[in-house]
Amino acid sequence: MAAFKNTRNLKTLVLTPKYVSHMTIKRNLNLQEYHSKDLLRKHQVSVQDFRIIDNTLDSKALSGFKADEYVVKAQILAGGRGKGHFDNGFKGGVHLTKNPNEIVNLAKNMIGHKLITKQTPKEGIKVEKVMVAESVTIKRETYLSILMERSYNGAALVASPAGGMDIEAVAEETPHLLKTVPIDIYEGVTDKIANDVAEFLEFKGPLRKKCAEEIKKLWELFIKVDATQLEINPLVETDDGRVVAVDAKINFDDNAEFRQKDIFALDDVSETDPREREAAALNLVYIDMDGSIGCMVNGAGLAMATMDLINLNGGKPANFLDLGGGVGEAQVSAALRILESDPKVKSIFVNVFGGIVNCGTIANGLVAACKKSPPKHPMVIRLEGTNAQEAKKILEQSGLPLTIINDADEAAKAAVKLAQN
Ligand code: GDP
Ligand code: MG
Repeated sequence: MAAFKNTRNLKTLVLTPKYVSHMTIKRNLNLQEYHSKDLLRKHQVSVQDFRIIDNTLDSKALSGFKADEYVVKAQILAGGRGKGHFDNGFKGGVHLTKNPNEIVNLAKNMIGHKLITKQTPKEGIKVEKVMVAESVTIKRETYLSILMERSYNGAALVASPAGGMDIEAVAEETPHLLKTVPIDIYEGVTDKIANDVAEFLEFKGPLRKKCAEEIKKLWELFIKVDATQLEINPLVETDDGRVVAVDAKINFDDNAEFRQKDIFALDDVSETDPREREAAALNLVYIDMDGSIGCMVNGAGLAMATMDLINLNGGKPANFLDLGGGVGEAQVSAALRILESDPKVKSIFVNVFGGIVNCGTIANGLVAACKKSPPKHPMVIRLEGTNAQEAKKILEQSGLPLTIINDADEAAKAAVKLAQN
């Protein structure tokens, strides 16, 4: 939501959460739970010991791992696993068992199958790995997150004694159970803040101090790894008097990649749209949507405006590819192929305003791609700015069946019409 506020002056008719996140996050780093827990553990946050079983289903991974009870958890980049179900009919992405021989059976029901939760796409996400952790006996589940919050111009702690469930529902139905505390980035989480939050989370007696310690360690981690959000849901009280982070999700500031190389190397792209991956390899941003017009644009602002123009003219974007600033001809050609490979696409709309980008580069890239193999769909091209006249000449002289329109609104209209034919 935070990034959304940036765009309030635009008619953001088609904003999907995915798109919003890409407005600020160029490279959406995704860590599986077990990688996040590794980070937590390294920063002395209290987590359960665990092992990982992969698609070889080799139980050797569990050798020497003993617990009274185990929790087996499907690893996907989405929450709501506990209440989810698999495409093979198996219920629940989080299972408890006391029988060590049961573990691999549970894993078999998960690995290679798609887990469908409230947060996954309809068809679910294929599970490649499961975490086997020593189960904790839970007395209470609470919620704690630390995030960068635009409305505070900085960090904030969000806490709720009603953890383990959908925090949006808590915010809506029982807002008094949700507390937000702005954090001064220089002062950090003070003893007083940590204690107050632990009290709000209803930790009593010696547990309050333990919880406060965990909160402070989580803050240290948050700062150390350049996180933008660190969510522990649930942060539990166990029946043997411990405070344990049972689930963890961390988002990172992509601008910090240069100093967080080890963390960014853990990026799990196996669940990413292949077109998005291909674009990322070219240093471009690809966003998938559900309409029929493939869009090539430069810059997030123009991308938004282009989506709006398409919507206002009665169409829907299938996707868009942001070329950014320093794009070369080969990237433009490759970008066109990526857009075309989306089966939803019926027409292509190139809308580029050349500032840093030279329109001639765009024109040459498009023409080269189309000469190599003819365009799959009708194309509408609007190029404005640096070297636009020259670019138009290149396109016209190519002899390719391209529709060149100077006015952005007219161009959008044409692209919509072509997609409908
Ligand atoms: P999510 O459903 O994807 O958010 O996965 P979580 O890791 O949050 O697990 C979902 C729920 O399973 C938690 O809220 C707990 O109620 C339960 N759970 C997870 N781990 C354990 C465990 O070690 N012991 C017990 N008893 N319950 C657990
Ligand atoms: Mg959870």
